[in-house]
Amino acid sequence: MIKFRVGILGATGVVGQRFIQLLDGHPQFEVTGLAASDRSQGKSYAEACTWRLPGEMPEWARSIAVHAPAPPLDCDLVFSSLPGDIAAQAEEDFARAGYPVITNSSSYRMSADVPLVIPEVNPDHIGLIEVQRKNRGFDRGFIVTNPNCSAIAVVLALAPLQAKFGVTSCVVTTMQALSGAGYPGVPSLDATDNVIPFIGGEDEKVEAETIKLLGRLEGESIQPAAMTVSAQCNRVNVTDGHMASIRVNLAQPAMLSEIREALSSFSALPQQLQLHSAPKQPVIVRNEKDRPQPRLDRDAGNGMSVTVGRILPDTVFDYRFVALGHNTIRGAAGAAILNAELLVAQGYLKN
Ligand code: NAP
Repeated sequence: MIKFRVGILGATGVVGQRFIQLLDGHPQFEVTGLAASDRSQGKSYAEACTWRLPGEMPEWARSIAVHAPAPPLDCDLVFSSLPGDIAAQAEEDFARAGYPVITNSSSYRMSADVPLVIPEVNPDHIGLIEVQRKNRGFDRGFIVTNPNCSAIAVVLALAPLQAKFGVTSCVVTTMQALSGAGYPGVPSLDATDNVIPFIGGEDEKVEAETIKLLGRLEGESIQPAAMTVSAQCNRVNVTDGHMASIRVNLAQPAMLSEIREALSSFSALPQQLQLHSAPKQPVIVRNEKDRPQPRLDRDAGNGMSVTVGRILPDTVFDYRFVALGHNTIRGAAGAAILNAELLVAQGYLKN
């Protein structure tokens, strides 16, 4: 198969480096274009980027020149991990210039004609691409988004329960890793020996994105899931891995064993299609009393599985449990790459 030539916007950042790492040896995608801020432009990737992941920067990436995040860029499609404030214009410019844009940033997630996709949960929402092209006058280009790094773990854990029993309400309390704030992120004197009960815009993102993701594509728009969601997001002193303590009310009664079975047997389109980045088990249920834990469970399924534990009947809600996902893999770069693999499988990307 001829590989798609991909560009990465924000290639030097926390998520950009994950893209480089995850695309190393990818069977369908080859990185040919890189972009970052004017601090990095005109340099080679090796000069511009201080590599902060374990292992070496892949050799092929070192000599690629870093450009401005504006078309033209030497590639067929772009992955974006630009800061939200500049992503909106840059992503629109690329889509208008004919590039498919598969993005992590929040700028378009809640736009009515932009698909917000987790391939295991709502793959049919990519149908909005046609609506978007019509509305915005895009020709070959389009924008597809993946969710906020906490919302993705929450929704992967809710989706099997929503499908089998219906979820009517949900309260989420997150404990989010420092890498979620990018590099250098939270100052060490704020983070050490501390929990920060505020991440700007995050409560609102988890609440709004959850009901869009679990909603239904009806005609040309998404009907949000009929579910109330309340979220409180906290920054904790962990490097990678966002944890969420979740309580749910269900539409239909369910036994504890049925809840466990619904979660552990969950499998969906990416698994059927055997997409390259799809984990065998999107949701892994742990039985130990003290799991999941970020250090032990964030890399499950190569960072693409969400681990759920502490599943118990609740005294106020029907059930409670704890979910954990790797924020820069399943919550960011890995999510976008899986979306791109889905788009290839569904014929939206052609080389
Ligand atoms: P980061 O580490 O701060 O990296 C930001 C990247 O954007 C760098 O490549 C930087 O280039 C580039 N950039 C910054 N300002 C720019 C400008 N004015 N023009 C062009 N490029 C610019 O941030 P990150 O954590 O990777 O996050 C990137 C995006 O992904 C954000 O929208 C974030 O919300 C989203 N996201 C992050 C996570 C996570 O877990 N970290 C998860 C999901 C989504 P230089 O190196 O040249 O400055």
